[in-house]
This record gives sequence, structure tokens and C-alpha cells, in this order.
Amino acid sequence: MLIVMNLSATEEQVANVREKAKENKCSSHIIYGESKIAIGITGETRTLSVDDFILMEGVVDAMRVSKNYKLVSREMKSEDTIIDFGGDKVGNGFLQIIAGPCSVESRDQVFDIAGQLKEMGIKFFRAGAYKPRSSPYAFQGLKEKGLELLAEVKKEFGLHIVTEAKDTETLPQVIEVADIIQIGARNMQNYSLLERVGQTQTPIFLKRGMAASIEDLLMSAEYILSQGNFNVILCERGIKTFETATRNTLDLNAIPVIKKNTHLPIFVDPSHGIGIRDKVAPMAMAGVACGADGLMIEVHHNPDKALSDGVQSLTPPQFKALLDKIKQLAPIVDKKF
Ligand code: PEP
Ligand code: MN
Repeated sequence: MLIVMNLSATEEQVANVREKAKENKCSSHIIYGESKIAIGITGETRTLSVDDFILMEGVVDAMRVSKNYKLVSREMKSEDTIIDFGGDKVGNGFLQIIAGPCSVESRDQVFDIAGQLKEMGIKFFRAGAYKPRSSPYAFQGLKEKGLELLAEVKKEFGLHIVTEAKDTETLPQVIEVADIIQIGARNMQNYSLLERVGQTQTPIFLKRGMAASIEDLLMSAEYILSQGNFNVILCERGIKTFETATRNTLDLNAIPVIKKNTHLPIFVDPSHGIGIRDKVAPMAMAGVACGADGLMIEVHHNPDKALSDGVQSLTPPQFKALLDKIKQLAPIVDKKF
């Protein structure tokens, strides 16, 4: 249920609404908008009625939320969510690019790539230390050593670090280093992990599962918000279809659909989406053109020697050429870049 209150509602009036939810064994979540306060009430709301709230002081409106997902919906919050990383903003008209190798491989590797990306003006560096791979024989990441190297990159270059949390056991170590915790496609429905990251305030980069619908993705985001962490960035990274010419099928239909249904930012990952180096750039451009708030792109200084996902990684010069094109495209789609 959604309770809309005046911005001028007193703390006591807000507390009274939350108390009523609590009396009925429901949770309440406050979202401060530009012109109103929204209180999302979740849990067993069937026992509650709109009339219980509508006459309370400070309440302007009360309604049931029709969607299965509540806190992530635009019904709950109409304005786009902005996540601010010390002035580098994600969401609502800002276009951001997260770039870096698939995996942390060595100190030289991450320093080389991070240094080149920094020169190009990139603010968010990605690299996996824990790698959930489809094959148990594939490179599984440098794990804690990888996190240590990412901490060094952060210190040396001042880049925001995006890295994946593979499970609840290793999450505490990842939180120490990550400015954004990535939840990978294979973990999109790992509800214990979603709940745990929901109990932190670290921004989460939630990738769509390869066989997940748009609603599945939004329901997974709801798990995180329902625990109190509203700093969630969604990512379309391609889904499995009957098509075998490409690694996945990048579902760009999802972008305008997601933008309509949720206030959360949505990124496109064309690297995993198509999985073929020379086709990453056109799909990156398409992602920006259809309204994505950002891109995640794999970049490697020596892709042929990469320990994971080299075939889809751009070289730094290829990435630079793409950036130059994105700079021209961004203003056409009303994005600041
Ligand atoms: C990755 O970002 O390197 C990755 C493994 O992505 P996904 O979870 O989308 O497969
Ligand atoms: Mn990868």
C-alpha cells in the first residue's frame, strides 16, 4: 500500500502512519520525493484498508499498489532515483560508463587498464575478484588477492570500484572494497544474497538473469529495497534465446519498459549481451539511444591473453573510439556525459 503525505507533514504525523503499519505487522519504508513523502507499506497488507490511513493527519492519499513489485515501482516513487558517488551521479539524465576487465588477473593488468581508463575520464572501474563461472574448470578469480589489488587501484586512481559478490560468505570482504557491489546474472535470484546486500547501504548493480523476465528482475530488486537499501542499479546483460550466432540476445526492449515501470537506473552491458568484440560498439550505441542510464563495458589491454571474456573485451583504443561516438550521441537523447 502507498501512503502519500504532504512534504510539510510533521515527524509525529509520519511516525503515526508507520506505527499503524507496525500494529498490523507490516513494514514501512519512507521515500522523500521533491513534492511529497511516500510511505510504502509492505507485508501482509490485505488486513489493512485504505480508509485506515486516509483520514490521518498529514496524509494526502492512500492507495493499493497494483504491481507485484512495490518499492521499485513508479507508483511508489515517480521521480528517477539518483545515486551520488561523491559528485559522480548515476540516474536521471546522467550517463555513466563502468569499464574494466572481466576479472582481476594481476597488479600490472589492473593498473595498466585503470590508468588508461582514468585518462579517458572514466569514473567507475569494474573487475571481478570472485567469478561465478558456468564451468568449474574456468578461472574462478583471484578472490581476496583480487580485492586487495582493487583496493590499490582505488587508492592510486581514485576510481569507484565495481566488483561482484558471489555468495554471502565472502560478501563482508567485498563490502570493504566495493563502491558498487555487482550481483551477477547467475545470482539474480539468490534471495539470501539479495537480502544480505539489502541490509547494507552500498549501491548494488543487479544484473538480469539470463532466463529471467523483466518482472523477475524487478522482483529481485524489490528484495533488496524491502530490506532498506534503495541504492540499486539494474542491468540488462542479454538473455538466452534460440539464437546461437551471438553469446546472448541483448534485450533492448527491456530498457524503455523498465524506465516506465521503475524509478531505478538501468544500465546496458553490451559485452555479455552480444559477446563478440567487434559488435560491442554498435550495441553500446543502441543501448544509449534507447534510454539506458549507463553502460558496463569490458576493456582489456591484451584481450587475447585475458583469463576470462577476452573475446568480448575491447582494447583501450577501441573503447576510446566508442567513447568519442557516445559523447556525440548523449545530448541527442538528453543525457549529460
Ligand atoms: C561479468 O560481469 O563479468 C559477468 C560474469 O556478468 P554476468 O553475471 O552478466 O554473466
Ligand atoms: Mn565477464
